[in-house]
Amino acid sequence: MSESVHPIEVNGLSRKFGKTQALDGVSLRVPKGIVMGLVGENGAGKTTIIKHLLGLLKPDAGTVRAFGIDPVQSPEQTLNRIGYLSENREIPGWMRVSELIAYTRAFYPKWDDAYAAELLHAFKLDPTARVKNLSRGQRAQAALLIALAYRPELLLLDEPSSGLDPVVRRNILTTIIRGVVNEGRTVLLSSHLLDEVERMVDHVAMVHEGRIVLCAPLDELQRQHRRVTVRLATSANEPPQLPGVLLWDDIAPMGDGREWTAICNGKTEEFRQAVTQLNAEIVEDNAATLEDIFVAHVRGGKKGA
Ligand code: ATP
Repeated sequence: MSESVHPIEVNGLSRKFGKTQALDGVSLRVPKGIVMGLVGENGAGKTTIIKHLLGLLKPDAGTVRAFGIDPVQSPEQTLNRIGYLSENREIPGWMRVSELIAYTRAFYPKWDDAYAAELLHAFKLDPTARVKNLSRGQRAQAALLIALAYRPELLLLDEPSSGLDPVVRRNILTTIIRGVVNEGRTVLLSSHLLDEVERMVDHVAMVHEGRIVLCAPLDELQRQHRRVTVRLATSANEPPQLPGVLLWDDIAPMGDGREWTAICNGKTEEFRQAVTQLNAEIVEDNAATLEDIFVAHVRGGKKGA
């Protein structure tokens, strides 16, 4: 693949279901070799984006390309390069795990038997068990195994943590995702568990009501955003006007209405000067979490300074 062709390139994608505008002008570019987290609330449009990348849905407007190819027009050229873990882990219940593996293997010339065996062992899956008798977490693991074992160039994981216990989530899933990226392959994962996303991804795209409200490298977002508590000289019913504030915490102000907490975006020096001019002081200044950043942009973005 030429370096200039990205595994994912979506431009102006819109899609309606009846009266529901599921996607509204989504543009997203994912370069090779990164983990991109697609985060957003339930119904934000994450799964709909993933389904377009698989060619399962046709855009109402805009373009979708996987490896530079239209997945609706030429699914045979894209699907064998994409591994997909669906939100509902759709795999045939009547098959035994070993049959599921043998069946899937037949579709993929690049299937890696040793890796499949390694994953089977890591997940402690019984090859003789029928899929329909697996627990929710075991089914998720079986689905993950068949999405991974042909070492696809692009891995699309829809809510990969769902149903997995904390050990598998923290250790195995994170190790798998890092391994994929270390081999120069690409991962797009959707999740609403922001603390987990924070541990797994390099880039974040925040989806809200069918739009991408923010897309940036995680470390850049973490550098730019702070959670700052200001103590005013006198108590106030309203938060002060300060530059760079995206959102004031809803929680009632502390210390007799003198302490107010904000999620801020950049403008650190201006913010500090303004605080001094108000005769106020900064009493706490911490890195904002991804959840803080998400809430600030989704709820407070329109009021952004
Ligand atoms: P979740 O985190 O709950 O999985 P999501 O961000 O993946 O949510 P989508 O599944 O993409 O959200 O749904 C986006 C919107 O489109 C929702 O309002 C959903 O109800 C609607 N939608 C999605 N697929 C369909 C469909 N096949 N028919 C009708 N509406 C749909």
